[in-house]
Amino acid sequence: MLDCHARESARKPADAADVRPPGRWHDSLCEGAPQLSAPYEGGCLCGQVRWKAIGEPANVRICHCRNCQRATGGPFFARAMFLAGDIERSGKTTLWPTSPRVDRLSCARCGTPVFAAPKDPPARLAVSLSALDDPAALRPEMHIWVSEKLDWLVIDDGLPEFAQGPG
Ligand SMILES: [Zn+2]
Ligand SMILES: [Zn+2]
Repeated sequence: MLDCHARESARKPADAADVRPPGRWHDSLCEGAPQLSAPYEGGCLCGQVRWKAIGEPANVRICHCRNCQRATGGPFFARAMFLAGDIERSGKTTLWPTSPRVDRLSCARCGTPVFAAPKDPPARLAVSLSALDDPAALRPEMHIWVSEKLDWLVIDDGLPEFAQGPG
């Protein structure tokens, strides 16, 4: 329905940037779904906010901190961190500073939490993996802030875990 149309209309005719190098799929280090490559695209539930990352993420992490729980409304925040200059974005967002270090930006219409923006340099934007058009395009590398993880959530994926940040 709407999701399919939104995804298809976001795809432009193939141009140089959309051509993936041959063999890249088979070189993936991850098991399961193939690791895709940039550009990554996503947006909010209603489609008002759209973004496209032209580079690879600096890191892909699952954060279990209380701020991420509250800001996303979910048990954790699975996000990819990009340099802000690598992200093209459109649509109106509202901004709320959830801590002295991080601003959160949500769609001004549907309220989907779309971005988290750390305030310390370099300028970066974290995007929710759930908001990717292909939610399997990027895979988390580690869990952070497991010291604040919800008790009923059991981690069983073998990824590294850190009580706070990776240090
Ligand atoms: Zn929206
Ligand atoms: Zn967090």
